[in-house]
Amino acid sequence: MGALDGFRDRELAQKIVKKIHEEARGLDEVRFMHVCGTHEDTVTRTGIRSLLPGNVKILSGPGCPVCITPVEDIVKMMEIIRQAYEEGDKIIMTTFGDMYKIPTPRGSFADLKSEGYDIRVVYSIYDTYRIAKENPERTVVHFSPGFETTTAPAAGMLNVVAQEELENFKIYSVHRLTPPAVEVLIKQGTRFHGLIDPGHVSTIIGVKGWKPITEKYSVPQVVAGFEPVDMLLAILYLVRMVKTGEAEIINEYTRSVKYEGNVVAQKLIDKFFEVVDAKWRALGVMPKSGLELKNEWKEFEIRTYYNPEVPKLPDLEKGCLCGAILRGLALPPQCPHFGKTCTPRHPVGPCMVSYEGTCSIFYKYGALF
Ligand code: SF4
Repeated sequence: MGALDGFRDRELAQKIVKKIHEEARGLDEVRFMHVCGTHEDTVTRTGIRSLLPGNVKILSGPGCPVCITPVEDIVKMMEIIRQAYEEGDKIIMTTFGDMYKIPTPRGSFADLKSEGYDIRVVYSIYDTYRIAKENPERTVVHFSPGFETTTAPAAGMLNVVAQEELENFKIYSVHRLTPPAVEVLIKQGTRFHGLIDPGHVSTIIGVKGWKPITEKYSVPQVVAGFEPVDMLLAILYLVRMVKTGEAEIINEYTRSVKYEGNVVAQKLIDKFFEVVDAKWRALGVMPKSGLELKNEWKEFEIRTYYNPEVPKLPDLEKGCLCGAILRGLALPPQCPHFGKTCTPRHPVGPCMVSYEGTCSIFYKYGALF
């Protein structure tokens, strides 16, 4: 028996579903939001929404870092590459596979590659480091999106690069922080009765990283893993807390998440990055939600060397509901483009591109509700 088999056990899952139905009986509608593409994948792949009582709803929040990466930053990186080439600096740019295809009004990194520029898809920032070592005469830039989970390896890599004085390694930081975004959504009026905290992010920031949300807004939370039983337990615990009026943080994902998180990773992130106000695509500027390199490390930021002006561009195509979906206010089938004019082969908006995007997940599993 594998370590995770218990978390995929059908009978156990059915028992928890039964419990959720019992405990939710008599409650007004309760809405629980998650902020994680992998949670959405579990919920949609296993049909959890269809198993829940009608008064328990699961919302999908801003859990896709690639989806919320601003258009202006993607376009700026594209302009940097063009400018650098014109000046004889044949930059190699790396990024993740889903970021590579994200559409903007000025095209995607994939389009830029088709024009002959050297854009490479990597699995991790370590691949960028390896490419930089193999090409010491070229500037190698990692366009670096992601929440806390991805920021930690980026900081670790920068630590190595700084020690080795690897001068041709650069990043374009579009890292973002999840708790401040949840806080903004609460302040802007997204109504939910409980939060399912992302397991991956929580391995870095710990249970304590979510405490201010419960302390300030009395929102019950459960840190959850990614198996069906993890998600069902999280929903059950939230239903119970709503029923009793408690607002606590329960750590369901104890096999990976500690109260204090990964302190070593937190120190590395603090060493290299500072917290700034930052734009999220389709969601606007959120206070203290972004990470930029600190002044003493700006030598590793490509915008220190090239910083072309980029005009303000529309975040989304007309009719695309990504903004409402990322705020937990809509689900993909409510979008008139979904599955018709917007598919993974021909995406209209970013939520249909990334494997963490809610539209792409709904499309993949044929979820129509
Ligand atoms: S289906 Fe396409 S157009 Fe509609 S919200 Fe999703 S990404 Fe946007």
